[in-house]
Amino acid sequence: TFDTLMIGGGPAGAAAAVYAARKGILTGVAAERFGGQVLDTMAIENLISVPHTEGPKLAAALEEHVKEYEVDIMNLQRAVKLLPGRPGEVHEVQFESGASLRAKTLVLATGARWREMGVPGEAEYRNKGVAYCPHCDGPLFKGKHVAVIGGGNSGVEAAIDLAGIVGHVTLIEFMDEMRADAVLQKKLRSLPNVDIVLGARTTEVNGDGKRVTGLTYEERASGEVKKIDLQGVFVQIGLVPNTEWLKESPIELSERGEIVVDARGMTSVPGIFAAGDVTTVPYKQIVIAMGEGSKAALGAFDHLIRS
Ligand code: FAD
Repeated sequence: TFDTLMIGGGPAGAAAAVYAARKGILTGVAAERFGGQVLDTMAIENLISVPHTEGPKLAAALEEHVKEYEVDIMNLQRAVKLLPGRPGEVHEVQFESGASLRAKTLVLATGARWREMGVPGEAEYRNKGVAYCPHCDGPLFKGKHVAVIGGGNSGVEAAIDLAGIVGHVTLIEFMDEMRADAVLQKKLRSLPNVDIVLGARTTEVNGDGKRVTGLTYEERASGEVKKIDLQGVFVQIGLVPNTEWLKESPIELSERGEIVVDARGMTSVPGIFAAGDVTTVPYKQIVIAMGEGSKAALGAFDHLIRS
């Protein structure tokens, strides 16, 4: 039985493991893919004090740091069920492999994934013009023409943010109106280098084999197909938390399926903590996930010494 077990080995789970292990308690990390979303990232330039790194390099550094301590790392383990213990009892997590692990406290750090459009060219040009994170990749498109797909709050916020960096932004929304808050829409419409295309279905990301060169969409009302020349496409149609495996558990989830946590990172079930992109904490970023993971581990330690 672990004192504390992290489910997920991205920045949040790794940070939690380092903090927990440094308290001298029995610590484990079980992850489907140690490294998490960072493995899918190329340039990272906003991890404070590290001006430039690359995803795979950061993932290796996370693992190296965790391995400085006596932490049991169980990679390629996908959690499928959580069986919380009654107060004072241990919690159990079951894995797809058939294995199950028990721990006095848990830190759930299973992260999230960007919803994809699923159109030709999107996967092919990922990190070659197709991007999902304006805070991360916006500066790479300085002075260029980019599209933002999606007129919800995240799409409109991204378009406003990018308009200050890139040359021109075209926002493309599937419905005939944007769903974003009125104040955001008003701000967006006031910007000189933004145009908005409503009622449009994106059908393809075009490229020259190396990089994105344009976007094809269909005007839904007329069925007319149009092409725009541009260098970047930011897909902002939703971030999906990896909480499917918790749906039948008593852990409280928000409307969007994110784990609700308190100021110490504790979920609605005492002794079970959560951190990073999987939670309701806003602004999904590496540095934030690391901070939240550290906090959740300290929360778990505090819980252990009190019970
Ligand atoms: P994740 O990194 O998502 O890690 C989740 C972990 O949980 C993984 O180990 C995963 O395998 C595991 N897991 C999931 N489900 C299960 C399960 N059922 N059972 C067991 N394990 C499970 N942020 C920045 O700050 N700067 C950037 O430049 C940047 N660029 C990005 C570029 C891309 C392409 C992407 C996709 C994201 C980028 N981000 C960037 C965001 C950043 O990667 C995330 O905010 C961060 O990784 C979140 O960390 P996390 O530990 O909460 O979750």
